[in-house]
Formats: sequence, structure tokens, C-alpha cells
Amino acid sequence: MKNVISAVCVKCGHEIEAKPDITTCPKCGGIMDIKYDYNYIKNTVTKADMADRRENSMWRYQEFLPIEGNSKSPKLRVGWSPFYEAKQLAEVIGVKELYIKDDGINPTASLKDRASAMAVVKAEEAGRDTIACSSTGNAASSLAGNAAAAGFKTYIFVPSRAPKGKVSQLMIFGATVVSVDGSYEDTFRLSAEAIDRWGWYNRNAAINPYLMEGKKTVALEIAEQLNWKMTDYVAVSVGDGCTIAGVWKGFKDLYAAGFIDRLPRLLSVQAEGCCPLNKAIAEGKDWEPMEENTIADSIAVGVPRNADKALNAIRESNGVVVNVSDEEILSAMKLVGRTCGVFSEPAGATGSAGIKKAVDLGLIPHDASIVAISSGNGLKDTVNAIKAAGEPILLPPDMGALLDAFKKIGGPQ
Ligand SMILES: *Cc1c(COP(=O)(O)O)cnc(C)c1O
Ligand SMILES: [Zn+2]
Repeated sequence: MKNVISAVCVKCGHEIEAKPDITTCPKCGGIMDIKYDYNYIKNTVTKADMADRRENSMWRYQEFLPIEGNSKSPKLRVGWSPFYEAKQLAEVIGVKELYIKDDGINPTASLKDRASAMAVVKAEEAGRDTIACSSTGNAASSLAGNAAAAGFKTYIFVPSRAPKGKVSQLMIFGATVVSVDGSYEDTFRLSAEAIDRWGWYNRNAAINPYLMEGKKTVALEIAEQLNWKMTDYVAVSVGDGCTIAGVWKGFKDLYAAGFIDRLPRLLSVQAEGCCPLNKAIAEGKDWEPMEENTIADSIAVGVPRNADKALNAIRESNGVVVNVSDEEILSAMKLVGRTCGVFSEPAGATGSAGIKKAVDLGLIPHDASIVAISSGNGLKDTVNAIKAAGEPILLPPDMGALLDAFKKIGGPQ
């Protein structure tokens, strides 16, 4: 990899060779970060080259990615997701410019596909045939799908609360699924023990530094889709913290390579019932474990696994933090659906919910420009979607009944 220099520990600075199966720091157990040669990137690729590329997936950014030149191309098409200007939503929220990055259209319907596609490439480079992870649901279903396409075996650990939509994906993709009767923290610990015992390739995003490099491609795309003119803010829903850290890494890489001339501020959005990272920022303290009390299952993470990188990202970007209630999340699901035609799962609409709240609270000015990342598709969790939007009109097949029903709701007569 000519573009990669090494892997560096974010805690103690220890530097090691970026082999395909590295995990945490051999010295202190801290999380590693992939270090690039930005001069090499600058001299190899320009914005104009990028515009000419026909690879409409996350792999169009190969100079920014830690992959060997001769690695096999992944089978599923991950990334290059739609980017919409959301004029109606901007009006309702009362902000000048608002965009939605719809990552729910990825092959397994969440942003996690970006990390899982990367995991499959690196597992292949490492010569492994089995990949494992623990997940609140989406990392699992994306690993199962991307691994199935590439012919890997998968062992997957999810908390038993994971929504049926996500579990059904795992079963269809042929993973061996262990549903743990416990919290996400319990699930993570069991998976770590099993991975150690059987030596599987580790797709836990807070352990394997390459996965964040996959996730950062969402930021590379946002910048390119904005024609390299960054917005003031980018809103991200936060659980383990790998996504927000990846988003920040992506923007920093582009800045270092001269592709953008300013960095956005991050808006870190968590659920009121589970917000250990935002709480740490707001109180200027170390983070402490919290209960996992929210309908947004993907970000119900009481013990965030990537706290160091996430907190660094929020602080470095001069970020803003805001927590939203379950009611605010449900109402954002409805609002984004009705004004943008984008269907998000609860954690997917959390970013938009956070923008609304931050603007209402005066944390973000009305003349700001903002991107909201919709990180997961609403079809994954139809129970909460119905909770947000209600049930349809139920009728016998009879015109009289239809007229009565329409009268009640002010419909046509
Ligand atoms: C995983 C996930 C997040 C949060 O990502 P973290 O890396 O855990 O912070 C947000 N939204 C969705 C839909 C997710 O699946
Ligand atoms: Zn270290």
C-alpha cells in the first residue's frame, strides 16, 4: 500500500506496520488509526480525476483507502448513496441549507455496509475464511451480506432485543447467529472471547482500525456531492462512536490532501436514554457507562467501544452535542419521510431529530448549512415506523364506510 505509512495508537502513539489483521495496540491496548502519506495522495489523484471515474461505489476513493492494489473487488455495490437537498425539511426546521445523505439504500440497508465491505477485503488479504462480530444489528446484517457475496463463513452475536428485520437479514444471508439474552455490552464480551478462542477475523469496528476507514467513505462522498464545498455542520447519530470518528477522519483526509478548504463542525446526536459520549462532552469529564434506554436500537450503546476516537472527533471539530428523546426521534422519522421521501430507522432519523432540536435550542444558527446522514433504512424496524406514523384506515369493502371514514378525517365526499 503506497498510500499508507503505518498504524498509530490513538492512546500512546505506538506505530506498527499496517498488516491486514492488526487489531488494538500491542503496547497499551488502545485503538489504532491508519496513517496516510498525503503527499503521495496529492501527487496521485486530483478532483478532476475523481470526477471522471465511473466506479460509482465507495471504492472510487482508492487512494484514500488502505487496500492492496491486487485485492479482489468486493461483489456488492456499497456506497455512492444518494445525496438530496432537503428544501422542505429545511423550511420546517428553520435552517438555510439542509441535505440528506441516504445511506439506507446500501445493499443491506445501512451505513455499516461501508465497514463490512472493507472487512471482507481485509479478511481476504489476511488469508482468512471466517469473519465474526458482535453488533446491535446493522453491523451484523451488513457483515452477513457482504461475507455471503464473497464466500466467507460468519459467526454473529447480537443482543436478543435486535429488531426482527435485522435478524431476518442475518438468517437469509446464512450467518451462524447467536442471539444473546443480555445487553449489547454482554454480547460484545462474549463475541470477543469467542473470537480469541477460534481465531476468526474480527469485524468489531472499535477493534479493527480498517473498518473506520470504510465508514469514512460516507464523508468523502458527501464532500464530492457538495462539489467539495463543505457545509457548516454534519449531523451524525452516535452509538459506539465509530461512525462519527470515521466521518471526521474522512473530512480530515480530504483537508490534508487539499480536496476541501475547510472542515465542518460535527453535530453529535445521541438518545436521551443512552448518551454517555455527549454527556462526557457536555460535562467536560470522562465518559461513564449508561443504561441502554431508547427505541433507537442501533445507538443503544451504554459502553461505547470507540469512545477515544469519537470524543477526539467531536472536540477537534469544535462540535456540538445534543440528545433527543424517543418521541423526537419518532417525530423526525415521520417528518423526514413526509418532506424528503426518505424512510429511516430510528437511529437513521436521529441525526435529523438532533438538527431540529439544536436549531430550536439555538445551538445551531438559522443561517447554517447542514448535512444529515440517514444511516439506516426504516424497513429494518417496521414496528417503530408504525409507532411513529400510526395505522392505516381499516374498512369493510364498502363505499358507505369509506365516505364515513373520509368524513372523520376531512377527506373527499
Ligand atoms: C451503527 C449505527 C449508528 C452509529 O454508529 P456507531 O459507530 O455505533 O456510533 C447509527 N445509525 C445506524 C443506523 C447504525 O446502524
Ligand atoms: Zn498504545
